Amino acid sequence: LVDIRGLHKSFGATEVLKGIDLQVGRKEVVSIIGKSGSGKSTLLRCINGLETFERGTLTVDGQALQHGDANAMRELRQQVGMIFQSFNLFPHLSAGRNVMLAPTLVKDLPKEEAKARAQALLERVGLGSLFDRMPDQLSGGQQQRVAIARALAMAPTVLLCDEITSALDPELVGEVLQVVEMLAVDGMTLILVTHEMAFARKVSDRVVFMHQGLIHEAGTPDEIFNRPQTPELRQFLSALR
Ligand code: ATP
Ligand code: MG
Repeated sequence: LVDIRGLHKSFGATEVLKGIDLQVGRKEVVSIIGKSGSGKSTLLRCINGLETFERGTLTVDGQALQHGDANAMRELRQQVGMIFQSFNLFPHLSAGRNVMLAPTLVKDLPKEEAKARAQALLERVGLGSLFDRMPDQLSGGQQQRVAIARALAMAPTVLLCDEITSALDPELVGEVLQVVEMLAVDGMTLILVTHEMAFARKVSDRVVFMHQGLIHEAGTPDEIFNRPQTPELRQFLSALR
C-alpha cells in the first residue's frame, strides 16, 4: 500500500533522511522507534506530503507522490490521515463540527449525512455523547480521540500517528491507545511513531528502528525487542529501561 524507495530528505545542508526503504502492506501495523532527531517525524511528514524530498520515490496505493501536482497532492491527503502529538482541534468548533468539517468541505457531503457520520465516528472512539462539546471542555485524551475521529472522517487508506500520546497525562494515555488498538484490530493500515514500547510490541506486525536517518533494523516485535541485532538498537532499548 505504501512503497518508499531510496528516500532522501535534507534541511539545508543537513541530510535528515539518507535513503529510506519501507514497504507497508494493506492492514499492516508498523511502528517506528528511534532516538530523538533520527528522522521519524520527517519520514511521516513526507508520506503525507507535508514535506518535499530530493531523491527517491514514494507511492501510496500505486499513486506516485508528485510534489507540484496539486491534484495528486489533494488525492494523497485524502488517502493518508495523520494525527499529531498536539491535538490541533479547531478551538471554535464543537467536537462534532471538528469531525464534520473536512468531509463537508472536500467531499461535498450533505450536512445531515456528514453529521450522522460524525456522530457514528465519535461513538466509535467512545465519545458519542459529546458531539456539542467545545475542545476546551474536553480532557486531553478526549481531544485526541476527537482528532482520531476527525482523521477517520476522510476514510483514509492509511493512518499515520506521530507520538500521539506524548502530550497526555499518564492516566489519559490508555484511552487513546485503546482506540488505536481497536483500529488495528479492525484492519486499518497504521504507521505509528511511538515511545510506548509495550504498546508497539502488542499491536505491531513489524517494528522499524530508525537511526541517523536510516532504517537501521526492522523485524517482528519479538525480533526487535527480544533479539536486537545491532549495538545501536541494543543501546536504544537499554536506555529506555
Ligand atoms: P523526535 O523523537 O524528537 O520527535 P524525530 O525522530 O521525529 O525526533 P525529526 O523531527 O524527523 O526527528 O527531525 C530529524 C532532524 O531534522 C533533526 O535533526 C531536526 O532538527 C531536523 N529538522 C526537522 N524539521 C526541520 C525543519 N523544518 N528545518 C530544519 N531542520 C529540521
Ligand atoms: Mg518526532
